[in-house]
Amino acid sequence: MTGEAEKPSKDPSPQPSVAEDRWPELTSRFPALRRTVNAHRLVYLDTAATAQKPDGVITAEQDYYRSFNANVHRGIHTLAEEATAAYEYCRARAAQLVAAPSPSSVVITRNATASLNMVARGLEHTLREGDEVLLTEMEHHANLVPWIMLAGRTGIVLKHIPITDEGRLDLSKLPALLTPKTRIVSLMHVSNVLGTINPVAEIAKAAHSHGAIVVVDAAQSVGHMPVDMVELGVDVLAYSAHKCYGPMGLGFLAAKPEILELMEPMEGGGEMINEVYLDRATWAEPPLKFEAGTPNVAAAASFPVAVDMLEEVGLAAVREHEEELAGYALERLSSLPGLVIYGPTDPAERGGLVSFHDPEVHPHDMATLLDQAGVAVRAGHHCAQPLHRRLGVAATTRASLGVYSSKPDVDALYEGIRFARRYFNP
Ligand code: PMP
Repeated sequence: MTGEAEKPSKDPSPQPSVAEDRWPELTSRFPALRRTVNAHRLVYLDTAATAQKPDGVITAEQDYYRSFNANVHRGIHTLAEEATAAYEYCRARAAQLVAAPSPSSVVITRNATASLNMVARGLEHTLREGDEVLLTEMEHHANLVPWIMLAGRTGIVLKHIPITDEGRLDLSKLPALLTPKTRIVSLMHVSNVLGTINPVAEIAKAAHSHGAIVVVDAAQSVGHMPVDMVELGVDVLAYSAHKCYGPMGLGFLAAKPEILELMEPMEGGGEMINEVYLDRATWAEPPLKFEAGTPNVAAAASFPVAVDMLEEVGLAAVREHEEELAGYALERLSSLPGLVIYGPTDPAERGGLVSFHDPEVHPHDMATLLDQAGVAVRAGHHCAQPLHRRLGVAATTRASLGVYSSKPDVDALYEGIRFARRYFNP
């Protein structure tokens, strides 16, 4: 038949996905990324420390102060109602982002650290000397120190799931570590140093079979991949808004209602009470029971804009983007002889960050020389000193990715490392 050959093939070659097309436009929404550093284009590879903010988030925070600045929950004038509505909308969006049971299962905090401290303090009254809390060897200090402080007060025993040389949790040790005395298992979803995505669902299942409460530090996973409390099967989940393109000074503690009922409030004051007498008081229902004092309403008013952006792109697409770039970074960096790269070698098993150590260049020198080339990375122990002791180094250099990261960013990192190596070994 005539014209048949011109018809599109029934099996066209794959079209670039919509998401793939939109990365440059998405990147253009982040004003800080338009600046230069040391006369170079800024290559921001420190998203694991804090993500850059899109224009919409910045504008929303300013809008709060410009148009409806008021305190929440206690005013009946229009501004107070608008501020309260914005604050409660933030709670609802924060709950949706991680599939929390309901908005009222989300406590609004300052950051993930505050959330984790709140759980440790809140459950203190349920623990007795000799009870066990199981953590992991790769935890951030935010999920170590609150439990160390708790152990000092109560005599509970801290145990840790060790890691393998590839930077995975050694699950072969889990059965022996979980005992009838295990009350809480608290672990990170994605390691901020190794990048490892931990098998939280599997560990949660084992922990629950021992009657333990499962807490997850999702500071490095929320905003980077779909995170679903139900799928993970966890009881408590902590995260920070600033790491997922939202404002500073805002975090969340999402928990099953029965856990929030069980937890004691850590701080007393306004907002968190029901009735107060001179010598006694009763608490408000969760989540307000945990929110003493005036919160960061401006931050709360802007966070939903970050969630909108993530939903617009789709968290599965964000994950795909970061996984591809992490794979590219692993490939490029592993071509540099002698560079030690930490964590699993398969990008499917890791989040969007890569930590490395050059035996010839101290991480702080590496970060300084990279900064001269406009490449922002982080050097140090990344608030994970026990993990670094296990790795046998005092510090590492970490490059971490976000929705605005690109292959040219990774190329700039690669060239910057070569520059640093030449600088020290001309
Ligand atoms: N946990 C992990 C895994 C982190 O990477 C961080 C931030 N570095 C935190 C907790 C603490 O987050 P924040 O400083 O926002 O409280």
